[in-house]
Amino acid sequence: MKITDIEAIVVRQDKVKMIGDGSQDTVVVLVHTDEGITGIGEVDSAPEVVKAIIEAPASHMQCRGLKDILVGEDPLNVEYLWHKMYYYSYYYTRRSVGIHAMSGIDIALWDIAGKKLGVPVSRLIGGRFRETIPAYCSVLMPETEGEIERLVEHHKKECNYKGFKFGWGALGKSEKRDVELVRACRKAVGPDAKLMIDIGMAWTDYKSALRIAKQYEKEDLYWLEEPFAPDRTEDFKKLSDSMSISLASGEEFGTVYEFRDMIERGGVDIVQPDMSRCGGITVAKKIADLAQMHGKKLIPHAFKTGILMAATLQLIAAIPNADMLEYCAQETVLSKSLVRHHFRLDKDGNVAIPDLPGLGIELNTETLERYRRG
Ligand code: MG
Repeated sequence: MKITDIEAIVVRQDKVKMIGDGSQDTVVVLVHTDEGITGIGEVDSAPEVVKAIIEAPASHMQCRGLKDILVGEDPLNVEYLWHKMYYYSYYYTRRSVGIHAMSGIDIALWDIAGKKLGVPVSRLIGGRFRETIPAYCSVLMPETEGEIERLVEHHKKECNYKGFKFGWGALGKSEKRDVELVRACRKAVGPDAKLMIDIGMAWTDYKSALRIAKQYEKEDLYWLEEPFAPDRTEDFKKLSDSMSISLASGEEFGTVYEFRDMIERGGVDIVQPDMSRCGGITVAKKIADLAQMHGKKLIPHAFKTGILMAATLQLIAAIPNADMLEYCAQETVLSKSLVRHHFRLDKDGNVAIPDLPGLGIELNTETLERYRRG
């Protein structure tokens, strides 16, 4: 089998708001082969930049576009192809958006391998620890206590979520308000639900962060996510050592090298690679192994469409240290309908992990064509 073409399709809803919601647009990666099997991937980054990285013509040996590097190769050599992409695009893909683009292709290559061999990706990366996973409801933090109450009521009516995460939005504007909002979240979700808070990197002052976090201890948070920009490794470590709440981070990181630093020095308890940014399934599995060795959980970041959710579920199936799925509950057209049969929760709040070949999804071509921008 040979790779014949790679498409990077930019998809975007009609109007995009400047809020922390990555499900308003995406780039769908399709890897085509000479056997008619097509792998599906997705990237959570700047879509047009990702498209340029995939489609760029070769400049010189270490500056080749990703499609140029891969066409003609056997797609089943997934690990080799990851290293080939990394090496021949090293000047511009060592970190950040280059790794994001590689992630989408890597997901698609695993999808091809699963489809060709007739097994789900999870069985190719070690086999399955579980068939279902509890989902937590992931939403942006509303501005008012009333909106928090209404939002929780709405989502509880829809699904039996066992946990809620409120992130970004109204958080990070003042110490007093950050405490009040989280108190309102706990009241709305009740004493038994897991509660997670994502500051979205908005805190800048360490002492202020410590004061707020001490208040949060009373609200029994399951984790506190990205209080600071993730490069502030020392502040993460200090905060982690000064409170009892678990710290979570990782959605901006790429390659196993960045995660190694975080896991070994960063004071992070819950590691959150985004599989459409960290380097794909190939890298996420290595990060999961490293996290496991250090006694840390791995709960991937996934705030996009059903493609990323499918890749995330396959990883979660194959590792011992995941205990929840981030379920993007934004009501955007792409988050809900880019794949056919979008993942639903059962009555116990769990999502079934597909046991079909590859990622186990089918693209909704009507949605893709309706919102296609390039
Ligand atoms: Mg986050």
